[in-house]
Amino acid sequence: MDFRPWTLDLRLNMNPLVMKFGGTSVADEAAFRRVREIVRASLASRPVVVLSAMSGVTDALISSVELASDGATDHAIAALAEHFDRHLTIARSLLSNLPAENYASEVQRARVKIKELLDSVASRTMPLPVLRDEILSYGEQLSASLMAMVLGSHDLSAQYVDARRCIFTDDQYGCAAPIVIRTDEATRAELEPLIAKSIVPVIGGFFGSSLGGATTTLGRGGSDYTAAILGSALGAREIQIWTDVHGVLTADPRIVERAHSIPRLSFSEAAELAYFGAKVLHPKTIQPAVEHSIPVRICNSRSPAGGTTLVCAESETSPQTVKAIAHKTGVTTIQVTSARMLGAYGFLRAIFEIFDRHKTVVDVVTTSEVSVSLSLDNTHQLAPLIKELESLGTVSVEEHRAIVCVVGEGLRATPGIAGRIFSIIGDITVSLISQGASRINLTFAIDEDRVVEVVRRLHAGFFESNHESASAVGAA
Ligand code: ADP
Ligand code: ASP
Ligand code: MG
Repeated sequence: MDFRPWTLDLRLNMNPLVMKFGGTSVADEAAFRRVREIVRASLASRPVVVLSAMSGVTDALISSVELASDGATDHAIAALAEHFDRHLTIARSLLSNLPAENYASEVQRARVKIKELLDSVASRTMPLPVLRDEILSYGEQLSASLMAMVLGSHDLSAQYVDARRCIFTDDQYGCAAPIVIRTDEATRAELEPLIAKSIVPVIGGFFGSSLGGATTTLGRGGSDYTAAILGSALGAREIQIWTDVHGVLTADPRIVERAHSIPRLSFSEAAELAYFGAKVLHPKTIQPAVEHSIPVRICNSRSPAGGTTLVCAESETSPQTVKAIAHKTGVTTIQVTSARMLGAYGFLRAIFEIFDRHKTVVDVVTTSEVSVSLSLDNTHQLAPLIKELESLGTVSVEEHRAIVCVVGEGLRATPGIAGRIFSIIGDITVSLISQGASRINLTFAIDEDRVVEVVRRLHAGFFESNHESASAVGAA
């Protein structure tokens, strides 16, 4: 009997199934074995496997770039040794002699290349963002090629495919955007012949190639996005994001012990949660899936038979009306006040042109007759941005803020939810209260040091009267 009843219907469909495994799902030998079994159980669904770097590897590569850029290249290279060894240990235990030796040679080539790249970082012979993206891509290159060998070493037929042959992007290093038509064509040309021959393609997530042939990355957590891009190109039946929790939970399980898994979310609910901090899904993952109406399922690789979340066009309204609470810290809020705004047109445009020039994304915006308040989580350009805003009015800035976002399709039709939310946290000062255009979320800003308490209190208020049933499907 299949250990995942929800896979049964996939067997009826000829379209492929994209399965992405995150860093903790490939953390060690046991995790590699689990992935092998999960892929094997889905073979009839024509899987395409997308892998993240092994957990901790991208962070280690980032610090190696920082060390090299401070001139400590030897230290940078030494700090990576334990991560190369983690890959080699898995290869030695899961592969037979010849493939293990081939993989060891591949790791050795990667080591030499990364050293050369770190030397260039130190000597500044090439632009840092270009070097950084190429170095970071090795995390996914090494995990995906190892997984292809581990899958192929048993009765499975699998082949590593370099993501740079499928995903083409612009050249915004560190947060590149896919060039959709080119990517769709290349992905189909590379992967469909393999799928047709029942060979499982295994691809590293997170990176691609610029049109000029340089390696680019899609932003932290971007392997989810790779899965969605490939799934759209291939018209996948489903995109599965395999992680270390039972799907999207009612709140971040790192701070809410009783957070429990949500069986279904609409695309809009999932997009709001991902955008406002639910790390389990990269915020850009939902868009390609929406465009092609491809369901996204979030599953737990440590316990495949447990709860999952299915994200699709329709959700169900939660009996509590609220489906989940997301939060993000490290937010800065800015208020621009000016009497000139009263009855004047062009004022908002002038403000947003300044954000545009400084390539700064605004998350939440609220306005009154004489002021505009905004929140940002990327403040790399804060000083020059504020200087320009001051030409439009008085500017006040608050750092160390957090955004809390309460989400649920039911919010749209249920009166009194805002009253309920703010009565639960009546003693907390909130600002930037906003209900998005879709009216399925209520978002507000608070001081960062109150965020854990606020999320816990809201979770207790909305979910924990039923916590017996909730904890039955709780987080792993
Ligand atoms: P992966 O390495 O598989 O991509 P991530 O660490 O990116 O995994 O995302 C999974 C983590 O997201 C979980 O372990 C959990 O701590 C965190 N998380 C934050 N908010 C939520 C939420 N609402 N639901 C589920 N997980 C969440
Ligand atoms: N390895 C990359 C990161 O850690 C991408 C990913 O895991 O999705 O950000
Ligand atoms: Mg992730």
